[in-house]
Amino acid sequence: MKEEIRQRHDRLRASDYLELIGDEEAERRAKAAQHFVVIAPGAVNDGVALDACPVCGWEALAMSGIDPFGAGVGSGACFVCSYVRSADEAEELARRIMMTRHMHN
Ligand SMILES: [Zn+2]
Repeated sequence: MKEEIRQRHDRLRASDYLELIGDEEAERRAKAAQHFVVIAPGAVNDGVALDACPVCGWEALAMSGIDPFGAGVGSGACFVCSYVRSADEAEELARRIMMTRHMHN
């Protein structure tokens, strides 16, 4: 429960920040993120990959770790809105993705 509160708090903080920087700055950062990051699909462990951010919607969430289920969800921070996805949240998200995949197979 504590973790849920922390996540909610961080999302609010990030969306607040997003409002502060504005659309133009958000777009500029999202584009800059593409240059910072070495995108290596399937090799997230060796570097950093970008994921869509749940707060700002930009593909700017730089993942530094990967979930234990191999769903491709890592913990990391967003270049645009500064949202931080914790390892716990990444694991929870990965579990949901894997469950959905399982149901459709
Ligand atoms: Zn973001």
